[in-house]
Amino acid sequence: MRTETMSDVLRERSLESFPALVLNADYRPLSYYPLSLWPWQDAVKAIFRDTVRVISEYDRIIRSPSKEFKLPSVLVLNEYIKPQRYPAFTRFNVFLRDEWCCQYCGDKFKTQALTFDHVIPRAKGGHTQWENIVAACQECNTRKGSKLPKECKMFPIHKPYEPTVYELQENGKKFPPNFLHESWGDYLYWDSELEDGYIH
Ligand SMILES: [Zn+2]
Repeated sequence: MRTETMSDVLRERSLESFPALVLNADYRPLSYYPLSLWPWQDAVKAIFRDTVRVISEYDRIIRSPSKEFKLPSVLVLNEYIKPQRYPAFTRFNVFLRDEWCCQYCGDKFKTQALTFDHVIPRAKGGHTQWENIVAACQECNTRKGSKLPKECKMFPIHKPYEPTVYELQENGKKFPPNFLHESWGDYLYWDSELEDGYIH
C-alpha cells in the first residue's frame, strides 16, 4: 500500500484507472450504457460536498494536508435521481442504437472505424439529432459525401429514431462485457452530448 500527497497524485496518470462507480440512492447504477463512472477527482469532490456515501474503496491511499483516505470505488448518491426515460444523445448511444453496424453496408465495425453520417446532409438543412444521424463506416461515409439518400441511392438500413433507455440496455446485453468496457475507457469523450455543428 502506498501513501502519497495530493500533488503527487495529481501528476500521476495511473490514477485514471481508479474511477468510481456511481449508484443512485436505490443502489442501481445511475446509467448502464455508458456505465456511470466518475473520475476519482469528481468522486473525491462529491465526498467532501457530502452528496455521496462511500460503499467500497480501492486500496490506494491519498493524503490531503488534513486528511488521509482511500480512493472510493463505489459511491451511492444521498438523494435519488429520477432515471431518464430517454437517453442522452451521445456518440456512444448512437453506436449502441445502431449496434456498431454501418447503416449503409450493414457490416459491423470497431468503434475507431465507425463515424457518423447525417442522412440529410447538414449542407442541405439536415440537423444533428437522433432522427438524422446514423453510424457509418468511413468508406460509406465518404461515398455518400453531402448527397441526399435519393441522389446516391444510399438509404439507411434502419430509419434513425430516438431510442428509449430500455432499448439501449437491451442492445447493450448483446455485446460481451469487455466490448462495452473498452469503450467506457473513453467515457468522458462518449458522454459529450452531440450538438448541431459539433460533428460533420
Ligand atoms: Zn459501410
